[in-house]
Formats: sequence, C-alpha cells, structure tokens
Amino acid sequence: MVRTSIIAVDDDLAVLASVERDLRQKYGREYRVVKAESGATALDVVQQLKRRNEAVALFVVDQRMPQMSGVEFLEQATGIFPDARKVLLTAYADTEAAINAINKIGLDYYLMKPWDPPEEHFYPVLDGLLEDWHANVQLPYDGVRVVGAMSSSASHDVKDFLARNSIPYRWLDIERDDEALRLLESAGHDPLRLPALFFPDGSTIAQPTGQQVAERVGLRTRAQMPFYDVIVIGAGPAGLSAAVYASADGLNVLMIERHAPGGQAGNSPKIENFLGFPSGISGSDLTRRAVTQARRFGAEMLTAQMATGLRSEGNTKIVTLSDGSELSAKMVLIATGAWFRTLDLPGTERWNGAGVYYGAAHTEAANCRDQDVVVLGGANAAAQAMLFLSRYARNVRVLIRGKEPTWSRYLDIAIRANDKIDLLFHTELVDIIGDEQRMREVAVKNNQSGQITSLPAQSVFVFIGHKPQSDLVGDLVLRTESGHILTGLDLVKDGKRPPGWPLNRDPLLLETSVPGIFAAGDVRNGTKHGVAAATGDGNAAVSLFWQYLSTI
Ligand SMILES: Cc1cc2nc3c(=O)[nH]c(=O)nc-3n(C[C@H](O)[C@H](O)[C@H](O)COP(=O)(O)OP(=O)(O)OC[C@H]3O[C@@H](n4cnc5c(N)ncnc54)[C@H](O)[C@@H]3O)c2cc1C
Repeated sequence: MVRTSIIAVDDDLAVLASVERDLRQKYGREYRVVKAESGATALDVVQQLKRRNEAVALFVVDQRMPQMSGVEFLEQATGIFPDARKVLLTAYADTEAAINAINKIGLDYYLMKPWDPPEEHFYPVLDGLLEDWHANVQLPYDGVRVVGAMSSSASHDVKDFLARNSIPYRWLDIERDDEALRLLESAGHDPLRLPALFFPDGSTIAQPTGQQVAERVGLRTRAQMPFYDVIVIGAGPAGLSAAVYASADGLNVLMIERHAPGGQAGNSPKIENFLGFPSGISGSDLTRRAVTQARRFGAEMLTAQMATGLRSEGNTKIVTLSDGSELSAKMVLIATGAWFRTLDLPGTERWNGAGVYYGAAHTEAANCRDQDVVVLGGANAAAQAMLFLSRYARNVRVLIRGKEPTWSRYLDIAIRANDKIDLLFHTELVDIIGDEQRMREVAVKNNQSGQITSLPAQSVFVFIGHKPQSDLVGDLVLRTESGHILTGLDLVKDGKRPPGWPLNRDPLLLETSVPGIFAAGDVRNGTKHGVAAATGDGNAAVSLFWQYLSTI
C-alpha cells in the first residue's frame, strides 16, 4: 500500500503544533502527518515524497507566512500533487484572498482560525475532503484492475461505471502497459476481448455486463422485497432527495439506477451553486453523502438495473427491470433525468467512449494528461468540464456555435484567467479524423466565414444540450413534444382533467396523468435544470406521496 501524507504548513509554531496534534489525533493511524514551518521547507518535502512515489492527500496551509503565502505555496505544490485536497487557514482579513484562491488554484476550503472544537469545525471538513480524495484518486494498490484500451468504448464504460460507483480501480492500458499483456496472458484472456477485470480475490472476467461487474464488486442488483411503498426510478439528485426524505418519513423506498447514483450531477467536477458549499462540492462527493444518508434512513438501491417497463394495475404500480424481473409499489417516482444530446455527424459513432465522451470529463480527465482536448458547448456543464480538463490536458480548445457562451459569471472569470483554454466562437465540429488506435485531429468550420481548419485532438468532450429520459413511460403518461413529463396543473386544460383520469380530484403537483405515478427533476416539464431544483422536486414529491396515500 502506498504511503499517504497530510502536510501541515504554518510559520507560527504554536499554531503548527496544534494543527499537527489535531491531525494526528484523528488521522494519524491512516496517514503520515508531516509538518513544515515554511512554504519552502514544505516544497522540499513535497518533492521528496514525489520522488519516492508516495501520495499526498491533503495540504492544510496557513495563508499568512513570510516569503511565501499559503496560496503561493499551494500553487506550486499542486503542480506536483494535482489531486491533493487544499485547505487554507485564514484570519478574517484573508477572506478575500481565500475566495480568489477558489478560482485561481481550485482551493477546496478555507478555515478561520481558531477552529475549536475540531470535532465540530475541523474534522467534518477534512473527513469530506479525504473521502473525496480516496474516491477519485488512483493509487497503486491491490484492488480491482481493469485491462483495456483507450480505443475501446466498452473499456471506457467499465471505468466510468466503477468510478461513478466509487469503486477504486487500477487502469492498465494494453497499448502502453506491459503488465496489461502479462495479466491477460496469465488468465488466458483474448486481448481482443476487452476490457478484462481482475479482482483482489484472484478471479477475473472479460467483457462483463454492468450487472456482472456490480455483483462482483458488491453492489446490490436485486431487491430484498417484492413490494414497496415507493419505487424511485433514477438515482440522480431528484431520486436521491426523494429517497432520503421518504425513507426518513418511514416509507419503504427502493431506488432503481441503471448506471451509478448521482446522475448528471455525478459528472460534475465541481458544483458551485448548491446552497451551503461556498467552495463548491464535486458531484461525486455530493452523491456519496446523499447515498449514505438514504441508506442510513433505510432506503434500498439497486445499481446496474434499468427500469424497462412500468404499468399501473389499480392501486399497484409494476416496474419491469432489465433482467426481466418485476417489482411492485403503491407509488412510483420517475426521476430519470436527462442525458446529453449526441453528435449528429455521420461516421463519428465509432469514437463514442473511445475519444468522444459525453459528460465524462471527471472520469477521463486523468487520461488526457498532455493531450490536445476539444470541448463542445458553451453552457455551465461544458465550462466545468474545460476547467477540470485543463488541470491535465496540454490545451483545451472550446468550440462554441454562437458569438458568446451562456455559462455563469463565476465560471467565466476562471475560464478567462486560464491560459490553457482557448475559446473559438462561431465554430462547429465537422469531422473527426484518426486511425485504428486513436483520434488524431478534428475538422472545424467557422459558421460565418465557412472556412474549415483542422485542430490536433485526442479527445472530444460533448456538452451540446440534453434530452429527457422518458421513453420508458412514453405510452403511459402524457409528455410534451420534447419528451418532458407533464405533471400537476400542466395536465388540466380549460378546467378539464387529462383523458382517462379516473379520480374526482385534480392531479397533485408532481403527479403525472396516471394517479400514483409522479415525476421529479430534469425529466419533468417546467423544472429549472439544476441540482437544487432537482433536489427540491424530490423533496416536494414526498409530501405528495402522503397526500396520495391518504386517498387510496
Ligand atoms: C457535467 C455537468 C455539470 C453540471 N453542473 C451543475 C452545477 O454546477 N450546478 C447545477 O445546479 N446543475 C449542474 N448540472 C445539472 C444537474 O446535474 C442536473 O440538472 C441534475 O443532475 C438533474 O437531476 P435529476 O435527478 O433530475 O436527473 P439526472 O441527474 O439526469 O439523474 C437521472 C438518473 O436516472 C437514471 N436513469 C435514467 N433512466 C433510467 C431507467 N430507465 N432505469 C434506471 N435508471 C435510469 C440515470 O442513469 C441517472 O442516474 C450539471 C450537469 C452536468 C451534466
């Protein structure tokens, strides 16, 4: 197991001693706590650790130090350990510098001194950051190993599945890693049947389905009961929120998730507009917290199971799963969200998951080290992705169809200050060029001049809008032309309830055109796209569950 350090830096020896004491007390068993009295000494330590191939999980650094400020130190130290989490210790007067550091160096948190008691003000912050670090950073360790190829979309899917379900793994690229071939040979796997997974117990499997992987890594794929109060389809922010509040209220809840909890939000490297997280929170961190909370209240979750059918028989709702099994409930919440619109460029499908990625910046960023990367899109999701990718890529070229982006101001400031990011307006992707192994370049067109140019590119990340994922209930509930599900008063036209509506009351606020089937989040017509709106919807659904139950 690789040794992992937490590094504390402060020139005030009394404060340094107390930071060290607090860190050792809570984390001393798992991490080596290293202290340094100046930025320069700490940088020496950091370089030594790098040479020894060790890891740094966290920097806890005072801002006010002579010669080198905390932010200046972190700027250099994160060049060496880019994934380490960064906490700045500040006084009131340093708040401005700390807030600027959030944009400038991706500061994760700033803490006002003093923080006594640490149980209340220090450890909860560090616990979250260390958990997040563990979930996202790959270390050479004795866990699941995935042998695959960058040019194989199935390999990408498995990596994405493991990462999004917080299962640590080690990636071995057959084109670059000698150990990859050795492992395949030792197991007798065909190098053309990738990916192959190797588990710590010595077992191995080639080209597995999502369900097989889920079962091997201990994720639940089968329900414990045949009947629930509520089945929630989709474990994005809306589904998770409904599961947390419904199970906290004592309802029996089952969530069904086809891929991994977190939904689109799980792809977000940093959600900066969610209440209560001034330095932002990664989608994976938010998801992990929500899943833990839902489980704590007793909600069950199936992973790698897709709901493929839904029907209503009297007061019972029946959900069919991808493995053919059926589950029943008094109520169903459709929280299936939206997914990215795909490229409409003939011939480019072969690159899906093998150079063209939809929303997977978080999973793929580390593979883009020193690459030329192209991002398509001018809204918030694209903005977050390009900022994250720029930590690894040589440069990030952004193709924006119109004359300006629509992303938020806080993202715009960070983007304009990032010299790795190049914004190309009035520009569209027209072709992707590569060979058997990988993508080499893209052809782009200026939609004003018509001029076509080529740009070097080994990966393209696509963020060109969303489509609601509602086909599951296309024949069951009323939807808009765009596929968004109609609920509540949207269903009542000129005082008339929807055709076939059997009850002597209007549909409840989030209820669809079938009583007892509700919709929440991005899949619902009229919701504001975003994490807060989706979690709000999920929460609102719960009081409607009770209203519904009181009528049956
Ligand atoms: C990269 C990125 C960054 C973003 N950043 C921000 C941000 O900073 N701030 C913000 O407010 N918003 C952000 N958003 C938008 C936000 O993530 C979404 O609005 C939010 O996740 C919607 O939540 P939801 O639960 O409605 O749907 P989703 O998040 O789409 O979740 C739906 C879930 O349902 C599952 N599912 C679908 N069909 C089925 C089925 N048939 N069976 C089982 N499961 C199914 C999907 O796999 C998915 O997990 C971002 C989105 C992206 C893509």
